[in-house]
Amino acid sequence: MSVLGLARPELLAMAPYSSARMEAGGGDIWLNANESPWNPIALGRINRYPEPQPPQLLAALGEAYGVDPSRLFVGRGSDEPIDLLTRAFCRAGQDSVLIAPPTFGMYAVAAQVQGAKVRTVPLRAEHGFAFDVDAVFAAVDANTRIVYACTPNNPTGNSTDPAVLLDLAERLRDRALLVVDEAYIEFSMRDSLAIRAGTPDNLVVLRTLSKAHGLAGVRIGTAIAAPEVIGLLRRIMAPYPLPEPSIDAAMKALSWEARQLTRARIAQVRSERERLRAALPGCAGVREVLPSDANFLAVRFDDPERRYAQLAAAGIIVRKLMKYPGLADALRISIGTTDENNAVLAALDTRREAA
Ligand SMILES: *Cc1c(COP(=O)(O)O)cnc(C)c1O
Repeated sequence: MSVLGLARPELLAMAPYSSARMEAGGGDIWLNANESPWNPIALGRINRYPEPQPPQLLAALGEAYGVDPSRLFVGRGSDEPIDLLTRAFCRAGQDSVLIAPPTFGMYAVAAQVQGAKVRTVPLRAEHGFAFDVDAVFAAVDANTRIVYACTPNNPTGNSTDPAVLLDLAERLRDRALLVVDEAYIEFSMRDSLAIRAGTPDNLVVLRTLSKAHGLAGVRIGTAIAAPEVIGLLRRIMAPYPLPEPSIDAAMKALSWEARQLTRARIAQVRSERERLRAALPGCAGVREVLPSDANFLAVRFDDPERRYAQLAAAGIIVRKLMKYPGLADALRISIGTTDENNAVLAALDTRREAA
């Protein structure tokens, strides 16, 4: 069976929207898309509709991730492929997705928007929030269409051996997609599964330029998958998902020079993460710092509301994790610059507390 046997049959039969940009061939005088012939400001070719999936961006991302461009769908952040995969594979009112909370919130939101059920296999704090492949596999039923594995996981920070996830994908073949969200993989020492996406054909890997590449404001994320899955996402995507200025910014961020800088910044984040991880246990109210392979630390406090307020009083905003299962006493602190991290340590200094 092809992986498309898991997709919504009505989408395979549907005629996709065909944009002017897709239908156009060559030519110098563009009078096919009701665009303005004038560019109002000096910023790229913004009077023209952008390429729906720009070949030069697909080539640059393919090179960065080590995969053929035919295996890439580029969207407005990886949030968009999460949404499109849910729409493509989950029939409303019938199918379900399987998530392992505490994890990234968009998987459940996208499922709920589509009318798909959200089923959970909670990560256990007493097991270090390890992704339990056997429990996940056991929970998959005839209506499960997508299983999510986030590695490193947001918000806990721990990661999963890619070989274990590859094995799970093989066991799930013909039954469900395994979507491995690698939004933070650059900060970990683990290998990416990007080069294995599509082999087996139900394995999908998500990457983004929002975190390690520093382009959260640009909104460029990538699904790496079997070409038939990519073809389905392109059938149902918005006509012109990627704004021209975002395409330009992503191309610049993927240049050789920019990638050298990104590499240096990743090394700096890792070393700052370990510095904070070592220093935080001596700070006011800190009970435990969870090990992290990402660019944030989940930290357990005696009184998280009070510590949140204490940090806020110093102008430092962190994320409350208290609503997540197993993290009722935790805050999530992103790794900042050395000065910003020092400000966190100063705000939680026990000597200040005594004074
Ligand atoms: C930040 C994040 C993303 C999405 O980021 P985009 O900006 O939409 O690319 C995806 N998954 C996880 C786990 C994240 O934390």
